[in-house]
Amino acid sequence: LEAHFSIIEKENGNQNGLIAVLHDVTEQERIEDERREFVANVSHELRTPLTSMKSYLEALADGALEDPEIAPRFINVTQNETERMIRLVNDLLQLSKMDSKDYQMNIATINLTLFTEQIVERFQMSTKNESILFKIKVPSKDVFIIGDRDKLTQLMDNILSNAVKYSPEGGTISCVVKEEKERVIVTIKDEGVGIPKENIPYVFDRFYRVDKARSRNLGGTGLGLAIAKEIVLAHGGNIWVSSDWGKGTAISFSLPYDEAVNEDEDDRTY
Ligand code: ADP
Repeated sequence: LEAHFSIIEKENGNQNGLIAVLHDVTEQERIEDERREFVANVSHELRTPLTSMKSYLEALADGALEDPEIAPRFINVTQNETERMIRLVNDLLQLSKMDSKDYQMNIATINLTLFTEQIVERFQMSTKNESILFKIKVPSKDVFIIGDRDKLTQLMDNILSNAVKYSPEGGTISCVVKEEKERVIVTIKDEGVGIPKENIPYVFDRFYRVDKARSRNLGGTGLGLAIAKEIVLAHGGNIWVSSDWGKGTAISFSLPYDEAVNEDEDDRTY
């Protein structure tokens, strides 16, 4: 805590007042530190693909372009790096929008049962070649929640794409939707590498990765779960992880479940 005192003096020199302003310096310093660290992280994350692209382009200019075997490989690397940078910038833009005060939510009633089935189906189609098995367990009746469809799609995409990224070939990914009294819980579980216990508290932090090189190789930006967390919080829910190193990971999030919405059929949109 930092205190600033101003003594109010009258023209005749008599003091008749004291103003004390108290600042929470630790909080300010913390925010400033976080901001500095964030800018350093962003710069580093952008410099890495740029440096790599520079050296591949130089090699192409120095003659690799004439080599019919090497040229396509080098061009492919620069394409991948460009795509990763675009993903990173998109993620950053999204986070910055969510940080701003006028964060817009397009709220509608959503059939979460159907919504989850559709998203898992889409992942099933797009990972056909990776022989990953998807299982889904939803309540037998339709469960409705109130939320922003695009943002919830992004939330599911981020969690499911991690599950796919960190899964072994032939692994199973299960998605379970469970109603509780006042909330619905969605759990996405994989049989992948898992997260060591000591790293679990940090996985929702911006740019945090358990294994930086592995995440980069898999095309990660280190922002997926940070964005997921912001989306869940904006919906009034919570997100958490349980994981066994080497065995698999389960990411769960909750969304408020409003009984009235589930009883009033007129309000529903699909
Ligand atoms: P990234 O783009 O690196 O995947 P995320 O923010 O999505 O970034 O995740 C942060 C880190 O959490 C990852 O780098 C990885 O170490 C860990 N992680 C997230 N999901 C999983 C998972 N399903 N299995 C194992 N590790 C995971």
